[in-house]
Amino acid sequence: MSLLSVKNLTAAYGPVPALFGVDLEVAAGEVVALMGRNGMGKTTTVKAICRMISSQGELRFADQTLHTMPSHKVARLGVGLVLEGRRCFKDLTVQENLMAAARPGAWNLRTVATLFPRLDERRAQRAHSLSGGEQQMLVIGRALMTNPQLLILDEATEGLAPIVRQEIWAAITRIKVESGMAILLIDKSLKELATVADRAVILARGKTVWSGAMSELTPEITQYYVGI
Ligand code: ATP
Repeated sequence: MSLLSVKNLTAAYGPVPALFGVDLEVAAGEVVALMGRNGMGKTTTVKAICRMISSQGELRFADQTLHTMPSHKVARLGVGLVLEGRRCFKDLTVQENLMAAARPGAWNLRTVATLFPRLDERRAQRAHSLSGGEQQMLVIGRALMTNPQLLILDEATEGLAPIVRQEIWAAITRIKVESGMAILLIDKSLKELATVADRAVILARGKTVWSGAMSELTPEITQYYVGI
C-alpha cells in the first residue's frame, strides 16, 4: 500500500496553471525519483504535497487526505521537506538548528552526527559561517531530526562541488539502507538517481508521462522526456 498517493493533481499560480494531472505513488521504504526537464512541475508537485500551494485531485499520506491540512500538520504527520535554497536559521548554531526541528525517533543529534561528521565538528558554529555544502548537510540533518516517514529532497546537490555532492549522495544511500525511510528525490544527476532510486516518475508539462522501475528507464526514455 502507498504511503503517499497523488492522483490527477492539478495546481496553478494565480490564473496560470502549472500542474495538469500528476500521478505519483511512494510506498513505505521506497525511493522514488521525480524527473523531468526544467519547469515541468517537479517543485510545484512537492509544494502541493506539503500544502505550500493549493491544489485539486487526490493527495493522501499515511491514510489521511492532505487537501485541507495546513503545511505544519503535513510536517507533523511525517513529511520532511528539503527545498532548493538551503533554508536554515543562519544566526543559530548547527546544534540549535538541529534541535529546533527535533522530534522523537531514531534520528537524533548522535545519529545525524554519524551521518555528517563535518556537522558534528561544527556544532557550535553559527549556520551563516558554514560552507554551502555544510549548510546543505544541515538542512538535510534538520529534516531528519523531525523523524519523517517520507523525506523529500528537491535538488539537494544543486550547485555543490563534486566532492560534497558525493558526500550527500553517500548520506542519501545510508539513509535509505540504514533507516528504510521512504524518499522522494528530485535531482539532475541520472547516474546517482539510478544507483539509489527504486522507481522513477517523469513529468512533462505538469503531467505524469512515464512511471516505472528504475531498471525499465531506458536511455531513449530519459533522452526523450528529460533530455539527458
Ligand atoms: P526546475 O527544475 O527548473 O526547478 P520544475 O520541474 O521544478 O523545474 P516548477 O518550478 O514546478 O518546475 O515550475 C512549473 C511551472 O510553474 C513553470 O512553468 C514555472 O515557470 C511555473 N512557476 C513556478 N513557480 C512559480 C511561481 N512562484 N509563480 C508563477 N509561476 C511559477
